[in-house]
Amino acid sequence: MTARSVVNLTVHGIGPVTRTLDPGEDGTWVSVTQFERVLDAVVGRPDVRITFDDGNSSDLDIALPRLLERGLTGEFFVLAGLLGEKGKLDAGDVRELQKAGMRIGSHGWAHRDWRRIDEAQAVQEFADAHRVLAELTGQPVTRVAIPFGSYDRRVLGRIRQARISRAYTSDGGRARPDGWLQARNSLRHNIGPEWTEQVLDGTPALPVRARKLAARAVKRVRG
Ligand SMILES: [Zn+2]
Repeated sequence: MTARSVVNLTVHGIGPVTRTLDPGEDGTWVSVTQFERVLDAVVGRPDVRITFDDGNSSDLDIALPRLLERGLTGEFFVLAGLLGEKGKLDAGDVRELQKAGMRIGSHGWAHRDWRRIDEAQAVQEFADAHRVLAELTGQPVTRVAIPFGSYDRRVLGRIRQARISRAYTSDGGRARPDGWLQARNSLRHNIGPEWTEQVLDGTPALPVRARKLAARAVKRVRG
């Protein structure tokens, strides 16, 4: 049975913080317990996908064993230019994730806002990052996760040019299973069991749906 819509989740860092975080990054860092609770709720849910951004060491040290224990797989979006930095995955770690059956995609080169990069940086973020990751995994990069969920038409154009078949955003709500642009829902430091319930089983796409309903209501009033 194919699900009519899917829920994409985004995980950043898990557990003890092992490096200096970027501003605001602590907002997306979750505890091992929070992470495990989400995973437990995902078991038996083929309509839920788990993605990991930023290439933190916790992807391998904490996430991988817990995914395997539950028979789950994840997609890991790593930063090609930051491999091997303190608290981040290195090349061997990425290969280990891949060997364990996990999927590897690109989160760009240096965690830049793709709306604010110049041409030279765009070459790094797409061409260079994809070349490095392809060499590392032996497979072309076909999926990206957009840093900060920040995109506009130009960003989408660059992603298309890079022959990407799926781009993950951070727009929230549910997504079409085979959509090119896929909304995701980020785990945050303050989530509790009710968050998981709401995101996994709530009425479709809370923010997007609310916006659409509001737009429809306005149209109705206007006639
Ligand atoms: Zn990121």
